[in-house]
Amino acid sequence: ETSKPRDFIREIVANDIAAGTNDGRVQSRFPPEPNGYLHIGHAKSICLNFGIAKEFGGRCNLRFDDTNPTKEDVEYVESIQEDIRWLGFDWDELHFASDYFEQLYDWACELIRKGLAYVDSQSLDEIRAQRGTATEPGTASPYRDRSVEENLDLFAKMRSGEFEDGTHVLRAKIDMASPHLIMRDPLMYRIRHAHHHRTGDEWCIYPMYDYAHGQSDSIEQITHSLCSLEFETHRRLYDWFIEKLEIFPSKQYEFARLSLTYTIMSKRKLLELVQEGKVDGWDDPRMPTLRGLRRRGYTAEAIRNFCSEIGVTKYPGMTDMVVLENSLRNDLNKRAERRMAVLKPLKVVITNYPEGQVEELDAVNNPEDESAGTRKVPFSRELFIEQDDFMEDPPKKFFRLGPGREVRLRWAYFLKCEDVVKDDAGNIVELRCTYDPETKGGSAPDGRKVKGTIHWVSAAHAVEAEVRLYDHLLKIEDASDVPEAEDWKNYLNENSLEVLTGCRLEPSLAEAEPGNPVQFERLGYFTVDSKHSRPEKLVFNRSVTLRDTWAK
Ligand code: ATP
Ligand code: MG
Ligand code: MG
Repeated sequence: ETSKPRDFIREIVANDIAAGTNDGRVQSRFPPEPNGYLHIGHAKSICLNFGIAKEFGGRCNLRFDDTNPTKEDVEYVESIQEDIRWLGFDWDELHFASDYFEQLYDWACELIRKGLAYVDSQSLDEIRAQRGTATEPGTASPYRDRSVEENLDLFAKMRSGEFEDGTHVLRAKIDMASPHLIMRDPLMYRIRHAHHHRTGDEWCIYPMYDYAHGQSDSIEQITHSLCSLEFETHRRLYDWFIEKLEIFPSKQYEFARLSLTYTIMSKRKLLELVQEGKVDGWDDPRMPTLRGLRRRGYTAEAIRNFCSEIGVTKYPGMTDMVVLENSLRNDLNKRAERRMAVLKPLKVVITNYPEGQVEELDAVNNPEDESAGTRKVPFSRELFIEQDDFMEDPPKKFFRLGPGREVRLRWAYFLKCEDVVKDDAGNIVELRCTYDPETKGGSAPDGRKVKGTIHWVSAAHAVEAEVRLYDHLLKIEDASDVPEAEDWKNYLNENSLEVLTGCRLEPSLAEAEPGNPVQFERLGYFTVDSKHSRPEKLVFNRSVTLRDTWAK
């Protein structure tokens, strides 16, 4: 029995298989341009392309769309491969569009010979000015009717390096009056005397995206070429090249790209943040890059679940950041062990607890996973609790500690505040408390109840750490609301990072490792910072709070 496909793309694929199109073969590809690090938007495309191959018994290639020499770099080629693997996918074949340069050149010559391409010797500005508008046809270039021989000769000279950048281009000869602007003799090649990260100085002409992409798909016999909506109008041209060259008919389908609230997904803008030092590199935990998310504590599974949950549609829209955060919460709730950590410590002395005595109390590692077992937590006369868990003059609904009030210490005893110690400036520096030895494990034999349970650490045993708390990268939901004339960076959230030092963690956290997130009880999910943490100076990142605190 077959269930209904999850989205319109999978429906198309399922129908093609049923109809025996391409003998039922499914071949997809993920085609990043190596000009930046992968971000959560790419993850959507990766999960779709690799997911379809997996689900329909097909294949998926990784192809670097490296046709633009000036912005690309091997650094990106390597990081992209690592990030795809980290996300849990592997490609069947690895390709580079630059490997197809010779074939693309031959095909361009073929189009010239068919009278379907010509060398234009105008400037790009002149060409743009002749393009016309949606309501007015374009104007033909004075070079449009060059002979095949002249075109072949000029194109060969473009290739061999005889001309300066910008002096000539190769254009497809289609229809300057087409109602579809993309069909008004689009550019195929431009001259660029630039070093390419793979082909070196072999080429000084480079194919445009529209000429390279479909032909690369066709070479790899891609059956379903999935791209984002902006390319919808390009599909006509995609099909035109394939038809005129009489090559394998790959088909392009468009889906809505991912946009997330309070962040940006443009690689150009992300690069700006990196280059201007606004963030701590591509892997800054505030960045929507896969590296940033990983350093923040995101698991690959949480990201895959997110992509599956948001699905694939034909309509653009904004996805609320909360959806991404919730997928992390759901995943970590199952897998993350619980620990106690005090971010803003307030000292507590238990006056009736024997000096020098230490108890090892049992604490449950994960109430969602019995197999995670228990651990020992040291308890002693001097503790730290959270400053926020004490109020000198608490309102009625405050169920934590106050003068004369009693709370439960997690995994330990009832604790009662007897006295508040202040410094000369009136700041609270210490609480003098008593504990009830009869309440071990959290309940009183006399049936007396306490409402609040707070976390704590033993002062003498705690390890010190720096803890970094994060907020949204942007102050506004949608960066595309910023007018062109204004700098989008004016809307960066200047409070997106809060660094807390002198935090005290239960001793077992000294062994915490990046990639192994933990829940600090009541505070959120945290992970060791893979870049800055050292055994002698621990640094933790908050991955996400326990609940959605952004909700109004
Ligand atoms: P940018 O405009 O930031 O450079 P791009 O789309 O050009 O982004 P590529 O590296 O060319 O980035 O993208 C590789 C693939 O990932 C493409 O198929 C593209 O459609 C897809 N992709 C990129 N961003 C998103 C996104 N936000 N949502 C879904 N798919 C995306
Ligand atoms: Mg791009
Ligand atoms: Mg691109």
